[in-house]
Amino acid sequence: MISLNLNKVINRPLVVLCLGCHADDIEIGCGGTILRLVEEQNGCKFHWVVFSAIGERKAEAQQAAKLFAGPERLDRLQLNEFRDGFMPYMAVDVKETFEKLKEISPDIIFTHNRNDAHQDHRLISDLTWSTFRNHLILEYEIPKYDGDLGQPSFFIPLEPAHFENKVKFLLEAFKSQSSKRWFQRETFLALMRLRGMECNSPSGYAEAFYARKVMI
Ligand SMILES: [Zn+2]
Repeated sequence: MISLNLNKVINRPLVVLCLGCHADDIEIGCGGTILRLVEEQNGCKFHWVVFSAIGERKAEAQQAAKLFAGPERLDRLQLNEFRDGFMPYMAVDVKETFEKLKEISPDIIFTHNRNDAHQDHRLISDLTWSTFRNHLILEYEIPKYDGDLGQPSFFIPLEPAHFENKVKFLLEAFKSQSSKRWFQRETFLALMRLRGMECNSPSGYAEAFYARKVMI
């Protein structure tokens, strides 16, 4: 299968918008891809927006964004304080936050999946699509108790430096999550291993996305 090469698509540094509901969503969903972009895309810049990062989770999100993107590549690190689990009931304020993001015109947007079982995740996915009308949007997946994994169509193969560092940084930055049974190295590696198998990744590992609309 031939691969699309982002280097050949535009001749200026890539602008990436990362949207995540909760403090660790971006990193779980597309952390390996971010590490790969940082390595391969000279001068790429990130706009990093988290909707619920409160108290210690705010500090963790701050640390993680710097570990994954690097401080010099973060054009925006916006950590909002919407209440976890209640976002659909505060949708007007969340929508206002999106309205202000219209000043950015990113080349790639990473966001939640439209069919995610978490109500906050679905809201952020819906508002991503209604805010950005002429952009490449890739929806990442978050493994969870509810069991909502599907059949993504867009794969980004990862080298060991990407998937190993993703897991290392996740465990290092989000210490408040360490008591959760699922927040473990094995969970993160297992999903990337399955997606790697599905796309025949040379390393065996990949991240996968739902790409509802892609133009080539
Ligand atoms: Zn979340």
